[in-house]
Amino acid sequence: MRGRLILKTGAVLLLLLIMTVGVVAFFFRKSTIESSRETAMTVAQLVRATLTSYMVMGTMDRRDIFLEEVRRLHGLEYVRIIRGEAVIREYGKGRDYERAIKRIEEEVLRTGRPKDQILESKDKVVYEVVIPYRATSRGSVNCLQCHNVREGEVLGAISIAVDLTAKRQEALTTLSIYGGIAGVLFLTLFWIILRHFEPYRKLFTEMRRVLNRYKDGNFKERINTELRDEAGELAKEINLVGDTLDRTLSNVREKVSMLIGYTVMETENALKDTEKIVEELAKISHFKRAIEQDLRKDDIYARIETVLADYMSLDKFSIYEVDERKNSMKVITVQGEKLWCSEVILENADECRAKRTGEDVDSAEFPCICPRFAFNELCSTQGIQYYCIPVNIGGKVGNVVQIVYEKEMDMFIRMIIPYIKGYLQEASPVLESKSLMELLKQQSYIDQLTGLYNRRFLEEIADKISAQIKRRGTTLGVLMIDIDFFKEVNDRYGHDVGDRVLKEVAQVVKSSVREADYVIRFGGEEILVLLMDVKEGMSEKVAEKIRRNVESKTIEFSGGVIKKTVSVGVSEFPKDCGGMIWRCIKFADVALYRAKEEGRNRVVRFTPDMWTGEEY
Ligand code: GH3
Ligand code: MG
Ligand code: MG
Repeated sequence: MRGRLILKTGAVLLLLLIMTVGVVAFFFRKSTIESSRETAMTVAQLVRATLTSYMVMGTMDRRDIFLEEVRRLHGLEYVRIIRGEAVIREYGKGRDYERAIKRIEEEVLRTGRPKDQILESKDKVVYEVVIPYRATSRGSVNCLQCHNVREGEVLGAISIAVDLTAKRQEALTTLSIYGGIAGVLFLTLFWIILRHFEPYRKLFTEMRRVLNRYKDGNFKERINTELRDEAGELAKEINLVGDTLDRTLSNVREKVSMLIGYTVMETENALKDTEKIVEELAKISHFKRAIEQDLRKDDIYARIETVLADYMSLDKFSIYEVDERKNSMKVITVQGEKLWCSEVILENADECRAKRTGEDVDSAEFPCICPRFAFNELCSTQGIQYYCIPVNIGGKVGNVVQIVYEKEMDMFIRMIIPYIKGYLQEASPVLESKSLMELLKQQSYIDQLTGLYNRRFLEEIADKISAQIKRRGTTLGVLMIDIDFFKEVNDRYGHDVGDRVLKEVAQVVKSSVREADYVIRFGGEEILVLLMDVKEGMSEKVAEKIRRNVESKTIEFSGGVIKKTVSVGVSEFPKDCGGMIWRCIKFADVALYRAKEEGRNRVVRFTPDMWTGEEY
């Protein structure tokens, strides 16, 4: 812009300079020629009048002296008389005519009209003017009296040359001085104009810069100008617009950040940042509404999985759930590997660094920090990184979300961590309430005294177990256990000791079977055990193991020690009862009854002959 301004103003001023100098030169020249012509005319008149009077008085011989005088007086190059054809015919060629006649003179003699010309060369300027004498009978002297010519015929001409070389030199000097002064003046003008326009030019550049930034969503830039006029006001107003936009957008971002509980990484583009954070708010509130309506924890986990895999485009991550009671961890989902952590964390949750410390575990900050990460070798050699986030649920670490990524993704991961935390933060209270609900439900299935499942639980799952066993084509062992002479304990040591014994026996039974088996307090001091997927015929052996374990158990209490025995009735589903589970339970009870009859502390396998009734 500055270059163009200089070029344009410079060109205009230069043109003006050339024009003024040109005009001055033109008029100078014109006036010089004009005055030369006037001098020539005057001289011509004078010469004509004087020569005419010489002619009349007959003193023509003084002519040369007179002409020399005239030439000298007026500073002429030459003054000469040229005779026309009529005079030559009458009086001969005369002296002046001995020199070659010039073309201009010849032309004047021929046409009878005055003519002038400027002969200009490098070192000389001559102004020549030729004026004709015409024969006339009017006026003070009648030419026709002496000359034998017609009225109006050209008698001759007077040829005068004025040397203008000195004048030209003078003019050139004057013009140079004038041009110099004009040049200085124009340069000053040029400088003043530039100086005046400079702040405006700067303002325009500033405006363009700032508005370009605004277009890119950066409203922090302001226009700097020293101008205090309307242009300065305009800049001020644009700055005000920037202030307002910047303040409003950062307010929006701040409020939304407060609402969603975290801030997003800010770039230079406030518009994009605001759009992004509002979009985030919409997504999160959508997510929140969805999980609140979810029925089970698994549905919520599935949504978190979608957020990680689809929204965040992650392909390697795990979600763990902490079992506070058992201090163990359960895998909810693992993506990209079978398990990213050593299995020991599943057994002992405190082996998980994120769970134990309750703080983020960031392998980028402290290289390969967690010894329980199963791929620390890849971490140190191939730049595999991990970031584990503990999720606070009801004041404790309830879940751990682990993200595994390649080193190159570090920037991206750092950017999305706040978002992921935002989602987890939203999920946390919902997960907590779902956990509580699950716990409550679990507790309603648990017998308070023994910690075994209760009869309600049996009623809830009996059909499910039956369907499962049938589907898998396996066998379910059904053991009905009853403590022998239990009444005695109550009677002799009181109910509290009775309760203790019941508890201890329940524990012995529970620890004698596999984790997957169900141990249920069926009623009073009767315990039902359902052995899942047992080998056909094996139920009796398990029952025998339980019997032995109870028999060898000594229960100590303040008043001494007690040893108790149990009787066990055994049946197998579906073989014994035609696939009707409640019937098998009944048959186990029937077998138990037989064991009591046969003298207690024994295992009796149900046989069809034991059941005589039509219905059970
Ligand atoms: P057996 O089974 O060998 O025939 O003799 P038993 O003495 O065990 O007889 P039974 O099975 O009929 O007696 C069950 C007794 O268990 C009756 C009841 O007082 C007692 N009992 C049932 N539930 C509880 C309980 O929760 N706590 C205590 N202390 N006693 C219980
Ligand atoms: Mg009993
Ligand atoms: Mg009983």
